[in-house]
Amino acid sequence: SEEKSLNFIEELIENDLSSGKTKTLVTRFPPEPNGYLHIGHAKAICLNFGLTQKYGGYTNLRFDDTNPVTEKTEYVDSQQADIQWLGFQWKNELYASDYFDQLHSFAVKLIEDGLAYVDHSTAEEIATQKGTPTEPGTPSAYRERSVDENLALFAQMKNGEFADGTCTLRAKIDLSSSNMLMRDPIIYRIKHAHHHRTGDAWCIYPMYDFAHGQSDSIENITHSICTLEYVSHRELYDWFIEKLGIFPSKQYEFARLNLTYTVMSKRKLMQLVNENMVSGWDDPRMPTISGLRRRGYTPESIKEFCERIGIAKRENLIELSLLEFCIREDLNKRATRVMAVLDPIKLIITNYTKGEEILIGENNPEAEDKGGTREIPFSNELWIEREDFMEEPAKKWFRLAPGATVRLKHAYIVKCEDFKKDESGNVTEIHCTYIPESKSGEDTSGINVKGTIHWVSAKHAETAEVRLYDRLFTVESPDSEEGDFKDYLNPESMQVIKQAYIEPYLANAEQGIGYQFIRKGYFSVDKDSKPGNIIFNRTVGLKEAWKP
Ligand code: ATP
Ligand code: MG
Ligand code: MG
Repeated sequence: SEEKSLNFIEELIENDLSSGKTKTLVTRFPPEPNGYLHIGHAKAICLNFGLTQKYGGYTNLRFDDTNPVTEKTEYVDSQQADIQWLGFQWKNELYASDYFDQLHSFAVKLIEDGLAYVDHSTAEEIATQKGTPTEPGTPSAYRERSVDENLALFAQMKNGEFADGTCTLRAKIDLSSSNMLMRDPIIYRIKHAHHHRTGDAWCIYPMYDFAHGQSDSIENITHSICTLEYVSHRELYDWFIEKLGIFPSKQYEFARLNLTYTVMSKRKLMQLVNENMVSGWDDPRMPTISGLRRRGYTPESIKEFCERIGIAKRENLIELSLLEFCIREDLNKRATRVMAVLDPIKLIITNYTKGEEILIGENNPEAEDKGGTREIPFSNELWIEREDFMEEPAKKWFRLAPGATVRLKHAYIVKCEDFKKDESGNVTEIHCTYIPESKSGEDTSGINVKGTIHWVSAKHAETAEVRLYDRLFTVESPDSEEGDFKDYLNPESMQVIKQAYIEPYLANAEQGIGYQFIRKGYFSVDKDSKPGNIIFNRTVGLKEAWKP
């Protein structure tokens, strides 16, 4: 493989390892189990797991499950399945909720050290007290409560003696800090809510900033990698670790993945699911890992994509066509080439008196071993694509037209002698003669034809449902348009072909394997497919819009 320069995170890890500051590299992937993982998460997964694959050490999977209201076990399960499907295995499966006792003790320690207080101010009052970036904040009336009073009140909070919103625990830091997050942030709030793991054991829950860094520290995470939104949180992250005197995990930030024609936040993807704008989290149009998998993406193509986009310190927007390029490249190497007719029209070979025969087709000219061969039945009645015939051919038309010749892929050269139309003028049948000496691989006819078309023998064909997809949104950045992002959904993002014809070989097509329908794109079997009711998804078209 080609030499790649180090990204900035690899550079700092190499420094930390060679200076001895880091003995064993420990990273973590910390999803909140409040939805399915998307391609942005794949970037963070590849980064965190990729670093410990490269430098040794290990990566934990930690569910950041400190918000009882939004989290579900269904999401925990799907997130695990998606990480494993990408090909990564975590060392420890951990839950921030397992640290609730420990985090609670940390909060008590801060209170004891005079560094936290119970505040009975309302949310609005606290917001006002924060001040503005140019004006310092003002102290809450409760800021100078004694340690004993705070300990007693915090115990009452924990014991469920207060209703939601009555009071909070705030860190006592610096009301004039230029970093608004340092102006006495809330670290615990009351929520009488059932938690997916701890049940009703708790009615106070730690805020993200009080849970994340300390969880990293408990796990001896050396490099806690997150996205740029957290730059301003770093000061607070370090402050808690310093005041508590615990393992000094360090936070580093990289640019999140933004992709054109896509939204990438679990909250927004959930809206699409809940409002039935897609069929589910794994709808093949979704940018979720499960959606991409169902669409026919391979783990390798997603990892290659993450490799190509690299790790940056500044926000950017990546072209969806780069992701498509990566799967096309991957499937080009591995996909069996087959024939399927999506918009059929009958072609009859009037001089083919043999009835039928078996032809042999090469599976993949791009593969090293050519992918082997398969049998393709041929007969005097075929299905071809409607678009491969023109009654009045345009200039440079090399496909079928009255009097024209083409090669039928893997078969013979045929000449169009006649055609039939129905009352409304639609062509219903094309009549051809074939040249017996022109059989592919043993052609002695001496005839040169410019066009080759695909076909399926009518009598042997199986039927299939074929789903064609387009981008889910009509604009590049649905998030930054006026109004609601859902106003920009592409009404033509899915086209369903109820009855396409496929060669018999595909009756046994398996899920998770990419096929090239020649001239039509790459397809894979949908998870709802059943014998006798085969469904294919188009993963990606053949045309290359993006050039590396
Ligand atoms: P979302 O808004 O989609 O829920 P999130 O950041 O709230 O995103 P988490 O479950 O907290 O989702 O994310 C787990 C990890 O994945 C975090 O470390 C986060 O920084 C990272 N991550 C999330 N979205 C992206 C993205 N678009 N690009 C790169 N990393 C991401
Ligand atoms: Mg998050
Ligand atoms: Mg989120």
